[in-house]
Amino acid sequence: MKISDILNDPKFKISFEVFPPKKETSWDNVKEATEEIAKLNPAFMSVTYGAGGGTSRYTLDIAKNIESKFDFPMLTHLTCVSSDKEAVSRHIEEMKEAGIHNVMALRGDLTPELEATDRSKWAYTNAVQLVRQLREYDYDFCIGGACYPEVHPESSNQREDIKYLKEKVDAGVDFLTTQMFFDNNLFYNFLYKIREAGITVPILPGIMPITNANQVERAIKLSGSFMPQRFKSLVDKFGSNPDAMKQAGIIYATDQIIDLYANGITNIHVYSMNKPDVARGIKDNLSAILGKEFE
Ligand code: FAD
Repeated sequence: MKISDILNDPKFKISFEVFPPKKETSWDNVKEATEEIAKLNPAFMSVTYGAGGGTSRYTLDIAKNIESKFDFPMLTHLTCVSSDKEAVSRHIEEMKEAGIHNVMALRGDLTPELEATDRSKWAYTNAVQLVRQLREYDYDFCIGGACYPEVHPESSNQREDIKYLKEKVDAGVDFLTTQMFFDNNLFYNFLYKIREAGITVPILPGIMPITNANQVERAIKLSGSFMPQRFKSLVDKFGSNPDAMKQAGIIYATDQIIDLYANGITNIHVYSMNKPDVARGIKDNLSAILGKEFE
């Protein structure tokens, strides 16, 4: 089933993102954690892809394992900036062989090593090139793209960022997933602006539950996300108490999701960080609040 069909269904649903093992010795742990998350019966699950190729070989393996055991589709991420056309083509063929139809087409982050090289020699500079490549195949891909309510860190302003986002969507993106955000107003403003720019595909807000204090710095560094004072106060108060911080993070994420639901958003993507207990905590909270609407 295509993710875009799931997103067009007006029933309220959540989906979970997981990441593949970084090395072979972690395979069993990651397999077990992702299966536990799958048992929560999300609308679908996505599996990230290592930009530098480090974890990329396991992305399809995790997706295939879950798809063989559970009755919902998988979305596999694919990045291109540190690859050449042949390597990307090979990976696309492997996806086709595995029967994967849903792909998140990403550029990937720029590493200092890559940035030190001559940009004119890169096979890919932006995700739009990967979207166009995927669309050349005689295969029914459902393609997702990333978007940034707080503007991609490399963009000089939001107008430019949305202009390139429109180009990416027009190249063949079927749905968009947002970077994490911790203030829903940023998402509502962004949604208004992209709709005004003529981007009409479904958009999936990405919610990151921050359940330990160390994650905060890393999340801000990776995403450049704005941390509301309300959230900073939680971390100040509970950051040194792991159990309390975990519950506070689950409650904050649930609160964001409930606010999105109350404002008419029916699809939510949760960055589970491979933590079944956190994913379960959010799911249980939503079931308690939404009851039958969420069964
Ligand atoms: P693009 O859409 O190419 O945008 C990157 C920058 O280039 C933006 O500033 C954009 O405005 C600009 N731009 C776009 N087109 C043009 C153009 N034609 N000319 C000039 N400038 C242009 N990373 C991973 O390594 N693995 C993952 O699995 C992964 N999953 C992600 C999932 C989501 C939902 C999100 C939001 C991010 C994910 N990332 C992942 C991180 C992502 O790779 C980085 O944020 C990366 O820096 C940008 O990727 P993109 O696909 O959004 O790039």
